[in-house]
Amino acid sequence: MTPSAGPLEFQRVVVIGAGTMGHGIAQVAAVAGSDVALHDVTDAAIQRGLDAVVRNLQIGVDKGKLTSDARDAALARLRPASTLSSAVADADLVIEAVPELLDLKRQLLTQVVAAAGPDTVLASNTSSIPLRLLAESLPAAAQARLCGMHFFNPVHLQPLLEVVRADTTDDSVLDRVVAYARQLGKEPIVVRDVAGFASSRLGLALGLEAIRMLQEGVASAADIDRAMTLGYRHPMGPLALTDLVGLDVRLAIAETLAREIDPVRFAPPQLLRDLVAAGKLGKKTGEGFYAYPGAP
Ligand code: NAD
Repeated sequence: MTPSAGPLEFQRVVVIGAGTMGHGIAQVAAVAGSDVALHDVTDAAIQRGLDAVVRNLQIGVDKGKLTSDARDAALARLRPASTLSSAVADADLVIEAVPELLDLKRQLLTQVVAAAGPDTVLASNTSSIPLRLLAESLPAAAQARLCGMHFFNPVHLQPLLEVVRADTTDDSVLDRVVAYARQLGKEPIVVRDVAGFASSRLGLALGLEAIRMLQEGVASAADIDRAMTLGYRHPMGPLALTDLVGLDVRLAIAETLAREIDPVRFAPPQLLRDLVAAGKLGKKTGEGFYAYPGAP
């Protein structure tokens, strides 16, 4: 991806949470030309995120998708931010990518609103939490500036960006976010504020059924995945995808959809709960439905 030609919708961007998603969001924003501050709870977590960006960009250079000049320019636009309040004080856009926990996201957004300017656009990368639940604890003026920017994993490779319009989102905010999505090289879809939006709801339905099938001994994990990759031409099977997303993340999404949409359809299977309780969260911990020797 090359930096966009025209002026960017958002020049100063803060990404909160430097994990699986946050570092990728910071990367695509910096490559597109934004000045990006990456924040997390510890400096070590921020550094892990920055290191991941350096690795990803180097792979891009090695594959000929990015020039070394573009890599260097993107890295020069990316900085660590240890203190949240100073980072967001002059931000044009703040994107939160902290874990999928309602109270955590609410607390964080309250902190951001207190420290940010009156025009700062606020976006959540939540996979499933209705924006109205995040917005309701904020002042009305801030509610109008909040929308969903749901990126996909790995962020620098996935073309889709699901933009979620809450009932309170201002039209002009939505338009700017959709325009910025294109400047990031993403293809935006605009979705109404319903738990799980479009993508997580469909993806989770398949993932949960695959886990239930594994639990019932229908087939091995590899064969269940092959049913979808070979039979339906999915690029990745639902269990391998769950390992990539993170079993904890998928469990949290299932709990939200069970609460918000249907407690039976979206009930988390016991096997998912057991693996999460055992710390087997997928690729990021080295084991989920598959083992990943040498990862993370
Ligand atoms: P993750 O666990 O990999 O990263 C979350 C990061 O947030 C961690 O580094 C953690 O230290 C940090 N964090 C926690 N509390 C914080 C705080 N108070 N302030 C600053 N940082 C804090 O999680 P993830 O997979 O990147 O998911 C983040 C969000 O993105 C979730 O809402 C998730 O549902 C969503 N999402 C995930 C995926 C996926 O494939 N993993 C895809 C789309 C959306």
